[in-house]
Amino acid sequence: MDHLSGKTALVTGGGTGIGRAIALALASQGADVAVVNRSNIEAARDVASEIEKLGRRSLALQADVSSPSDAENIVSQVLTSFGRLDILVNNAGTTRDTLLLRMSEADWDVVIDTNLKGVFLVTKAALKPMVKQRQGKIINISSVMGLIGSAGQTNYCASKAGVIGFTRSLAKEVGARNIQVNAVAPGFIETAMTHDMKDGQRDQILKNIPAGRFGTVDDVAKTVIFLASQSSDYITGQTLTVDGGLTV
Ligand code: NAD
Repeated sequence: MDHLSGKTALVTGGGTGIGRAIALALASQGADVAVVNRSNIEAARDVASEIEKLGRRSLALQADVSSPSDAENIVSQVLTSFGRLDILVNNAGTTRDTLLLRMSEADWDVVIDTNLKGVFLVTKAALKPMVKQRQGKIINISSVMGLIGSAGQTNYCASKAGVIGFTRSLAKEVGARNIQVNAVAPGFIETAMTHDMKDGQRDQILKNIPAGRFGTVDDVAKTVIFLASQSSDYITGQTLTVDGGLTV
C-alpha cells in the first residue's frame, strides 16, 4: 500500500537507529526522504542509497540541528531537490547522563540544544512551506522518560518533556492550517544504547514492561507512518507512547 505516494519527508538523525527505520518506512510507503545526520554522513548516505533502491528520491545531508543556519539550510535543500515538504520527523537526539550534582553546564546545554532547541529550529524552518501548502505533518520523537522521569537524566527528561509542551502548543497554533503536530514517546527500544545494558539491568526493566519485551525500531516507525498518513488527520497535539505498556 503506497500511503504516502507523492509526499516528501525530512528525518533528522535518520542515518542510525530509530531514525533510520523511520526513513526507510516512509520510503517504503512511497515518500521521497531526506536524511540528516550531524557527524556520520556515511550512515546517512547508506540510508539514502537504500531509499533509492526502493525507487524513491533521497538526499543525505550533514547538519547540526542546533545550528540556526544549518536548520534553514536543510529545509531549503529539501525544497530545492523535492519542491515541497510534507512530513517532518524531528528524531535527532542525544544523551549526557549523570546525576544532577555532577552535571556540567555543557552536559545540560548539549542535550537541550539538540533535543529541544533543534526541534524548535528545524520546525520553524519547515513550517513556512507547510503553511504555504496548507498541509503538513510534524512528528516529534520524545521519550517516555519525558513523562515519567529518570534518575541521572534530568537534562534528557527536561528536553523530552519540553518537546511534548512544544508539540501541544504548536498544534494549537497551526491546527486551522491543516498541519498536524504530534509526538511519539518510545519506551525501551532495542538499539545500540539498550544493547550495552548489563543482563541484570535488562531483566529488571523487562519486569515492568507488560508486553514482556523491549520495543523494536520498527514498532516506533509504524507509529510514525500512522501519524504521517491521512489516517491521522484528526489527531493533533497528542503524544503516543510506544512502550509495551511500561507507563500504564
Ligand atoms: P541514535 O543515537 O542511533 O540516533 C540519534 C541520531 O541523532 C544519530 O543519528 C545522530 O547523528 C543524530 N544527532 C544527534 N545530535 C544531532 C545534531 N545536533 N544534529 C543532527 N543530528 C544529530 O539513537 P536512537 O535510539 O535511534 O534515538 C533516536 C531518537 O529516539 C532520539 O531522539 C532518542 O532520544 C529517542 N528515543 C530513543 C529511545 C531508545 O530506547 N533508543 C527511547 C526513547 C526515545
